[in-house]
Amino acid sequence: MSDFDYDLFVIGAGSGGVRAARVASSHGAKVAIAEEHRIGGTCVIRGCVPKKLLVYAGRFSDEFENARGFGWQTGKPVFDWPTLINAKDKEIARLEGLYRANLNKVGVAIFEERAEVTGANTVHLKSSRCSVTAKRILVATGGAPSLGDPIDGLEHVITSNEVFDLKEQPRRIAIYGGGYIAVEFAGIFSGLGAETIIVYRGDKILRGFDEDLRDGLSEAYGKRGILIVTNRTFARIEKTDGGLIGHLDDGSTIEADQVMFAIGRAPNTADLGLDAAGAERGRNGHVIVDDASRSSVATIYAVGDVTDRVALTPVAIREGHSFADSTFGDKPWSADYEMIPTAVFSTPEIGTVGFPQHLAEERSAKLDIYKASFPPLKATLSGRDEKMLMKLIVDRESDKVIGCHVLGADAAEIVQMAAIAMRLGATKADFDTTMGLHPSAAEEFVTMRERWIAPGEAAG
Ligand code: FAD
Ligand code: NDP
Repeated sequence: MSDFDYDLFVIGAGSGGVRAARVASSHGAKVAIAEEHRIGGTCVIRGCVPKKLLVYAGRFSDEFENARGFGWQTGKPVFDWPTLINAKDKEIARLEGLYRANLNKVGVAIFEERAEVTGANTVHLKSSRCSVTAKRILVATGGAPSLGDPIDGLEHVITSNEVFDLKEQPRRIAIYGGGYIAVEFAGIFSGLGAETIIVYRGDKILRGFDEDLRDGLSEAYGKRGILIVTNRTFARIEKTDGGLIGHLDDGSTIEADQVMFAIGRAPNTADLGLDAAGAERGRNGHVIVDDASRSSVATIYAVGDVTDRVALTPVAIREGHSFADSTFGDKPWSADYEMIPTAVFSTPEIGTVGFPQHLAEERSAKLDIYKASFPPLKATLSGRDEKMLMKLIVDRESDKVIGCHVLGADAAEIVQMAAIAMRLGATKADFDTTMGLHPSAAEEFVTMRERWIAPGEAAG
C-alpha cells in the first residue's frame, strides 16, 4: 500500500503531460492529471492542429487561381469565416474527446481544474479546494503568449490564444513578431484575402533560420502582397470607431481590424508554487531540469515547453514518454535533440533539419553547399510566379549531409524523410546513389552535382 494518493500527478494535459500520464499508467502506476483549460493542450486546442487547418484554408485561394491554368473555369470563390471556424471547432472537440477517452482507457484520473504544487509531494486542486499527495509530480504546464513590455492599448491586441475564435474575419491584420507564429499567421490571413502586415523588430524575419530561407520567404511574401515592416516596434495601440491604429516607434501608423502579437511564449510557472517547493527556475521562469527531466527537487519533474529546451510538440511528447518509461517502466532513455526537423507552415512552406549555413560555418570551415532554385512543375501551367528552394550543406571531410533546407510546397513532408537519412549519418555520396523519384521536387536532393560557389570564391 502506497503512502501517497497517486504514484504520479501530472499538471497539464497537453502534449507532454498526456503522453507521460498514459505511458506511466500503462506501466502500472496510479496516475492523475489536472487540466485548467481543455484536454489536449496548446497543440490540439490552440496550436499546431487548428493552425494547420487554417493554413489549408488559406491555401485554397492559390489553388482556385492555379486551377485556371489547368483548364478549370471557376467562378469567383467566396470564403466564409464562420463556416471554417465552426468546422475547426468540431474537429478540435472530437480530438479533445479522443484524448479524454485515451486517458480514461488506461485509468488515469482526470481533474479538470487548476492545480498548484504545494510541496515536494503535494498538489492543491483549486476548484475542488483539496490537496492530494503523489510520489512524483510532473509539471507539464506548457507556455502562454508573451505580450512584451507594457504599452498603452495592449488590451486591444489578440494573440494566438484568441485568433482561433474570432467571430469575424479580419479584413486588415497587423501581426507583431518575426518568428514561427507571426510568419505562419501572416500566410494564413493573406491567403484568406486580408491586407496583411508583419511588424518585426529585427531586419529580417525568422532569425536563426538559414539565410536563403529567410530571403526566399521574405521575397515570396512580398510577391504575395504581405508587407513586412522591419526594425520597428509597436509604441501604442489606439482603438477607433473604424478599428485599431498601431502607432510604431518611428511615429508611423498602421490601421487594422486586428493587431496580433506573436512575440514569443513564456512558461506557465506563475503562481504554480514551484519556488516554495524549492524547484529552481531559470531566467525566463522555465523549470530547470536535468537530462532525466528532474528538477532540483528530486520528486518534481518537468517536460515540454515549461522547460527551456525545444518548444515543439514532438519534443514534449518524447520528453513525457522518456520520463514515464524511465521512472515507471524500468526502461531508462532520454530524448535525443540531434537533428530535430521543423517546419514553418508559411505559404510557401519551410522545412529544415540540421545546421543552417551560418551555424555549419561556425562548426567547420570546410563545407560544400548545394543549392537549387527553380519554378515547380505545377507553376509552369498555373503561371504562378514562385520558386522552390532546396539546399544541402555537406561537411567536406566526412561527406555527411549536416543541413537540409527546403522552401516550397510540401517542404515539411520532404524534410521529415530527409531527417531519417541524416540521423543515420547519410553522406552526400549516399544521396547521390539514391535513385530519384520522378517527377518530384524532392528528387533534386539526389541529383545535385554542382557545388555552389560563393561570390568571390575560386572554383575547384
Ligand atoms: P501544452 O501543450 O501547452 O500543455 C500544457 C497544458 O497545461 C495546457 O493545456 C494548460 O492549459 C495546462 N496548464 C497550465 N497550467 C496549469 C495548471 N496550473 N493546472 C492545470 N493545467 C495547467 N509545435 C509543433 O511541433 N508544430 C507546430 O506546427 C506548432 N504550431 C504551433 C502553433 C501555435 C499557434 C502555438 C502556440 C504553438 C505551436 N507549436 C507547434 C508548439 C506546441 O504547441 C508546443 O510545443 C506543445 O504544445 C508543448 O506541449 P506541452 O505539453 O509542453 O504544453
Ligand atoms: P518565436 O520565438 O518563434 O518568435 C518570436 C518573435 O518575436 C521573434 O521574431 C522575436 O524577435 C520577436 N520578439 C521577441 N520578443 C519581443 C519583444 N519583446 N518585442 C518585439 N518582438 C519580440 O516565437 P513564437 O511566438 O512565434 O512561437 C513560439 C514557439 O512555438 C516557437 O519558437 C516554436 O518553438 C513553437 N512553434 C512552432 C511552430 C511550428 O513548429 N511550425 C509554429 C508555432 C510555434 P527576434 O527574432 O529578434 O528575437
